[in-house]
Amino acid sequence: MSITQLLKKIIPFIQPYKKIIVFTFILTLLGSFAAQVNAFILRYTVDSISDLMVEKKALKDGFALLLFISMILFSKEMLNALIQFGQKFYGEKLRIFISRDLSQAIIEKILTYRLAFYNSTENDSGKLQTRIDLGISSLTRLIQNFFIDILPLFTNAIVALSVMFYANFYVGLVGLIMIPFYFWVSNLQAKKLSGFRRNMRTYRESKSSRIINLIESITVIKSFVNEKVEADKHAQIQFDMTENQMQTRKVSFVFDSVKSFIEQFGVIMIIVLTAYFVLNGQISLGAIMFHIMLFSNVSAPIKQLHRIYDEVNDALIYSEGFFDIIESKHEVEISGNYKPEKITGLFELKNVNFRYPNGHQALKNINFTIKPNEITALVGLSGAGKSTIINLLDKFYEPQSGHIFLDGIDLKEYDTHFLRSKIGLVLQKNHIFKGTIHENIAYGLENATKEQVVEAAKKAYIHNQIMELSLGYESDAHLLSGGQQQRIAIARLFLKNPPIIFLDEPTANLDAIATEQIKKSIDAIKKDRTVIIVSHSISQIIDASNIIVLKQGECIENGTHEELYKNKAEYYSIFSAMANSLNIEKIMTTFD
Ligand code: ADP
Repeated sequence: MSITQLLKKIIPFIQPYKKIIVFTFILTLLGSFAAQVNAFILRYTVDSISDLMVEKKALKDGFALLLFISMILFSKEMLNALIQFGQKFYGEKLRIFISRDLSQAIIEKILTYRLAFYNSTENDSGKLQTRIDLGISSLTRLIQNFFIDILPLFTNAIVALSVMFYANFYVGLVGLIMIPFYFWVSNLQAKKLSGFRRNMRTYRESKSSRIINLIESITVIKSFVNEKVEADKHAQIQFDMTENQMQTRKVSFVFDSVKSFIEQFGVIMIIVLTAYFVLNGQISLGAIMFHIMLFSNVSAPIKQLHRIYDEVNDALIYSEGFFDIIESKHEVEISGNYKPEKITGLFELKNVNFRYPNGHQALKNINFTIKPNEITALVGLSGAGKSTIINLLDKFYEPQSGHIFLDGIDLKEYDTHFLRSKIGLVLQKNHIFKGTIHENIAYGLENATKEQVVEAAKKAYIHNQIMELSLGYESDAHLLSGGQQQRIAIARLFLKNPPIIFLDEPTANLDAIATEQIKKSIDAIKKDRTVIIVSHSISQIIDASNIIVLKQGECIENGTHEELYKNKAEYYSIFSAMANSLNIEKIMTTFD
């Protein structure tokens, strides 16, 4: 990304604060003029004192001079304090506001993205977070530095340089000649550093995703006594990062010395040149200090030039990732605008082929129908493509070829938000949000009444257990066990009351009692709805009106339990394995 591209991209974020920017700029300009006062006063003082000394005037006349210059310097400092306060305050305000806008903009944007965006390895949570954080902080730092540090310094330098030319053309010329050298060296420095900076970004991203991964895997790491191995892996990244940082510093220090040399060379030139003109009688003695002070006003911002390069480079590197995220149009979920009054819930899949973004072909030429008012079970070994079907029916992904129809209309035509509002989804491991049990059941239906929430909890067989907690429905939802959290998700489903329900191994994590209770809930909920269940539970499968058997992404059987069992094919072997694993003979002898 070039600087102009970067500017174009940040302008929309700066635009709302035009007034603050203009005001800050006026303050900056005033500050730049005020900054030159010291040089003028110093020249006036030196010249006046040397006149007094030549004329051998009494100390009394000197006091009047001191009083006069003190008054001027004091007033100027008062004005300066006000200007600086305004500049810093409004500059900071700009930074805080823009940082807030950037964070809000990116969050709002990524919430609209397809699931594929979140599943890509490029965007695992650690990397995504680092990219967002670094993008925002580098952009806000750039804006802050520009308005608070750089702009005042540069305005100051331009004013000081003009005054130098006005005071003496040759002195001005020395000041001017220095600038391209500085730019050249700073540019060289920035170029040398950019590779290191880019590496740093990669290290930071992988470091934070590793740390997140480490924390998530801590139980497994400890149970395998693998702390040392993990620590060593981390040490390697730390080592590479340190090496990179040291190289960055080394290059920076070398260039800093070169720039310092150029600046001091300028100071010497100014002293020699001015002394020549003073001795020549062309200008007064006070001009020596005058010129040196003006030159320091010119060189001060130039000394900071590498910082601008650094900031701009940081912003170019880090904001690239940030803007990639915020601008990736192809990630936005595609939506039609079809919103029927009523959904019956008849799904038809015709020649559906689907490949995940990583290229894995998860479904091959799938054809089947899912009827309303009955339960359809998706059966197959792990990895067969059952959850993938649910992902497609929920429009989390779109098939590469073939069609999915709902009530005769292609799913593509449906308004995605509308469609999802008509689907209830219960997963194997359901998500519990930070907050109370009430908030978790009412998630997505924030204005549900207490009675409705309690009613839903009762249907999901969780009400009594909630009431046993000291705070009841106001308890922290994370206090609940896995099985209880699952029933919270089912309560959510009862409250949402959708015409279509997808249950992806809903009882996989539940104990036997809870499973039995949930079975009752599911029986109650299936009436007048389309229910699709992915399950490894025999009782749930044989209860289904229709069973679809998947194998390696293909639909190989379709029918009722009895039909498929008679077929003696894939379903027969899965069912037999399930039944055998239950050790039915032993169970039977127990019952006898
Ligand atoms: P099932 O639910 O039958 O166990 P899935 O539908 O989850 O199977 O997965 C089907 C195949 O697709 C598997 O081989 C799995 O590894 C692969 N798969 C699942 N999710 C993704 C994903 N996000 N990206 C790439 N491949 C995936």
